[in-house]
Amino acid sequence: MNEIQSARDLEGDLELSADTVVVGSGAGGAVVATERALQGDRVVVLEEGPHVPAALLGKMRPSESIRHVWRDGAFTVAIGIGDSPSINVTMGRCIGGSSVLTGAVCFRTPEHVLHHWTETLRLRDYTPAAMEPYFEHVERAIHVEEVPEEMRSRSTQLFALGARRTGLEMKPIRRNTRGCNGCGRCNFGCPHQAKMSVDLSYLPRALAAGAEVWSHCLVRRVLRKGDRAVGVEGRILDRRGRPAGHLAVHARRVVLAAGAWHTPLLLRNSGLGNPERVGHHMTLHPGFRVLARFDEPVQGWQGALQSGWTDALEADGITLISLFVPPGVLGATMPGVGPEHMDNVRHIGHLAMFGGILHDEGGGSLYRIPGREPLAFYRMTRRDRARIPKLIRAMAWAFFAAGAREVFLPVLGLRGVNADAFARLDLDRIPANRIECASQHPLGSAQMGASPEHSVVDGNGRLWGMEHLYIADGSIVPTSLGVNPQLSIMAIATRIADRMRLCRKAIL
Ligand SMILES: Cc1cc2nc3c(=O)[nH]c(=O)nc-3n(C[C@H](O)[C@H](O)[C@H](O)COP(=O)(O)OP(=O)(O)OC[C@H]3O[C@@H](n4cnc5c(N)ncnc54)[C@H](O)[C@@H]3O)c2cc1C
Ligand code: SF4
Repeated sequence: MNEIQSARDLEGDLELSADTVVVGSGAGGAVVATERALQGDRVVVLEEGPHVPAALLGKMRPSESIRHVWRDGAFTVAIGIGDSPSINVTMGRCIGGSSVLTGAVCFRTPEHVLHHWTETLRLRDYTPAAMEPYFEHVERAIHVEEVPEEMRSRSTQLFALGARRTGLEMKPIRRNTRGCNGCGRCNFGCPHQAKMSVDLSYLPRALAAGAEVWSHCLVRRVLRKGDRAVGVEGRILDRRGRPAGHLAVHARRVVLAAGAWHTPLLLRNSGLGNPERVGHHMTLHPGFRVLARFDEPVQGWQGALQSGWTDALEADGITLISLFVPPGVLGATMPGVGPEHMDNVRHIGHLAMFGGILHDEGGGSLYRIPGREPLAFYRMTRRDRARIPKLIRAMAWAFFAAGAREVFLPVLGLRGVNADAFARLDLDRIPANRIECASQHPLGSAQMGASPEHSVVDGNGRLWGMEHLYIADGSIVPTSLGVNPQLSIMAIATRIADRMRLCRKAIL
């Protein structure tokens, strides 16, 4: 069986040939690579980031993990335009991609979203019935299971109590775990190999089937002959992320799976794709969190990180979902300075936390600028902007209904507020630049669709107007989902790999 190889250990350049070269080893890339390798393709996977195995993750403090496994130390931002908050967008940059950092939450694409794709966007093959076998296939591969009641953190239990009292029905979450002990470190990489991220669930099967997986390989552009993709080229990265050697893979088929933030850059660097669509119309699931201080000890970091959610506000485009972050990270984000900050930090053990995301209409754009990373902007639609206060109110009132003494809102410079002060607060008038907003779900920057005028790839992930070039990652998801996306991305990637089988004869 092959092992993951580091191009950094090579002396000189790397030149390979393959049937299929896959750029990016995250949720989308690992799935296509594995499915193609199992079908007999000679597969090469190229990943910009390092390979960080579980044993190493276990030795890292969260701050170290953020430096080694997260892109740009988690400082990536989509700059808010007009009345939009700026959004901190986080991603993984390692073998396994963002899949290594997930809270392990797994949702199928909601049926109403699939109906929209098939009926309005005319992506006829994406009916719930047609997608069912792909969801099942991925769920088996990554071991999706329901979080048992006893794994719920006290933080989630308290929110659930308040949610019930305010009329929001909570549901259990399903996660891709096996033997999870509830240590709550998921977002920094599971040290116990209990989260079935693609580096543990898919890539070992790809390696066993003969695939080569290379870390420290930054792909810069697609190689083409006329209207046919014939490989990729780029740079080997050294210890400091600087170019150390040339990289070229000649292949009969190229699959871009660099994620919604970077696949558009690769297309632009290569002069490919509908310029009106590449890098535009990106959705983010803008997310907000509310903390609540209780008199009782909560110790919200104990238990499965994410175990309950509600779609009771789906008509308003709002999904609420449990989360928590380790106390050290939380301490740094508490408001106040000096003694006030100390007091807030001292009470971290009494804090509960819940999060909410918007099922957004999009408004993200990515631009190529000098350097490695794109420049990103996000203009929130009026409808989505009006939903932020609603989302915050729903979470805050649920916490008060559960007996919270005060809540900490995602508003910069605002101290904790009790229920009376909260009732007087005019959330609608808080300016966008004071709202704290984060995203872990960039999607749709190279959307699939039914026509080349309105999309970048067709329903089988093929770039319009190019032969043998596919995209299989979050960038092709045609709308936001309103739920966490990894399972959707993996199911779509499975379908794309499956459709390639039908084209194999034509290529060889
Ligand atoms: C902190 C966090 C928590 C999350 N929690 C959940 C969750 O609980 N449930 C859920 O469903 N989703 C969750 N997500 C989202 C989910 O992880 C992503 O939607 C999914 O992994 C995206 O898959 P992808 O293939 O598009 O990109 P990624 O998984 O991000 O993979 C892209 C890979 O490509 C590499 N790459 C980029 N450019 C290049 C290049 N030029 N050359 C070579 N390699 C390149 C990147 O380094 C990266 O490894 C979370 C994300 C984060 C960051
Ligand atoms: S809670 Fe701990 S053991 Fe369970 S998946 Fe997350 S990091 Fe792994």
